Amino acid sequence: MQLFLADWLHRPGGFEKDGAVLVDDAGRIVAAGARAEVRAHPRAAGAAETTLPGRALLPGTVSAHSHAFQVMLRGSSDHPPSFREWVKAHLYPLVERLDEASLEAAALLCFSQMARAGVTTVGEFHYIHNAHDDYAPRSRALAQVVIGAARRVGLRIAFVRAIYDVQERFGQGRFAESPQDAARAIRELHEEHAGDPHVTVLPAPHSLHGATREAVETGATLARELGTRWHIHLAEQRGDVGYSERFHGGTPLVVLDRWGVLDERTVLVHGIWLTAEERELLARKKGALISNPVTNMALGDGIAPLAELMALGVPVALGTDLNAAPNVFGEMRAAELLQRVHHLRMGVLSTTGGATPDPERIFAMGTRHGARVLDVEAGALEPGLWADMVAIDLADPSLLPASVLGGAALLSAVTSSIAAESAVTDVFVAGRQVVRQREVVGVPAAALVEALRRAPALRPLQRA
Ligand SMILES: [Zn+2]
Repeated sequence: MQLFLADWLHRPGGFEKDGAVLVDDAGRIVAAGARAEVRAHPRAAGAAETTLPGRALLPGTVSAHSHAFQVMLRGSSDHPPSFREWVKAHLYPLVERLDEASLEAAALLCFSQMARAGVTTVGEFHYIHNAHDDYAPRSRALAQVVIGAARRVGLRIAFVRAIYDVQERFGQGRFAESPQDAARAIRELHEEHAGDPHVTVLPAPHSLHGATREAVETGATLARELGTRWHIHLAEQRGDVGYSERFHGGTPLVVLDRWGVLDERTVLVHGIWLTAEERELLARKKGALISNPVTNMALGDGIAPLAELMALGVPVALGTDLNAAPNVFGEMRAAELLQRVHHLRMGVLSTTGGATPDPERIFAMGTRHGARVLDVEAGALEPGLWADMVAIDLADPSLLPASVLGGAALLSAVTSSIAAESAVTDVFVAGRQVVRQREVVGVPAAALVEALRRAPALRPLQRA
């Protein structure tokens, strides 16, 4: 048993003064709340105490959509004039030379940075299944590289395993396989990690341009069989809508519904260009959405209709996608600011769905809703859930002066002004410390730099 004590504790609804969390040996929360009450819990006697003075303790954040290897593309989105040219000039050439050592170094970098920014669960949408030199199937080994990197850093990982069966262009050779091969690999991976509480496996037909109807149906069927949700990139760029109309005879979500796959297991990634009819359709079918505001800005995708979706009751989670700056607190802030630019008013997401402004609605996007779309039992400091927790320094300048007051002011600062990489001091996943005093315990900074120095995929970029 472990007992964590902090000056402020985030519970669903807001921050409470002088809180405590009691965690069992498996890493699940037994009790959370006022210090005196938690100490009086029958199982609290003899628990090892971790006191966090000058800290607030909150649930770890969830990046519900990430492509870890894309950290290698940092800076590249500043050059090309269009998404399509960026894919051709930067993304696909990187994919072509990304061997396993480079993939591992990229994932270690991405996940380490996430941990230091207070992410405790990553939804890793993985679609590199074939070898870099001869395109031979390497799905299992490549999956283990990424899952192994998350394990070394200590992050909880939802491995969102893509199904990609379209192979028309240079660069897609590393993704493509038959839906049957994909289904077999996903079943095997799911079975292999069935006993591991820190790894979940979800199927994900890549998109309407990367997956055929058969692949999409395979993903939806597998989700039902495995008891998981399934993810798909949808309506990210305006061109995705035109593509869907041209090749499938309807707008993207209408097509999914026509194929009979849209239901409460469906999780859309992006959904920027959903029509009003499609937004209502998603709400009616009880699907969910993952938004990636910083990436959407970087790639010139557009602004997702988050206020409209939330007003309809659609759960919205957040992802760091391209991972130029993998930081879910930053995504919370960007999500709200983009809505303000679009709606030309303030406090958009904090007021959507309620009479009084409540930053909890924004905080939930980066925590509870993220856990839900990844089928992970975390996202809040509540009994029964995993003790995935982040300690923040109340004296960090980015939280002042709000942290002097605490309570609702502190929550507003967390969703709008926090500088996560300096404010987050300690991170725990299932009660185990993965970041101590701003350093990743399992992957020292020097080891990370060395892994990147040795990564072959980085070399052409250095010479360029
Ligand atoms: Zn993506």
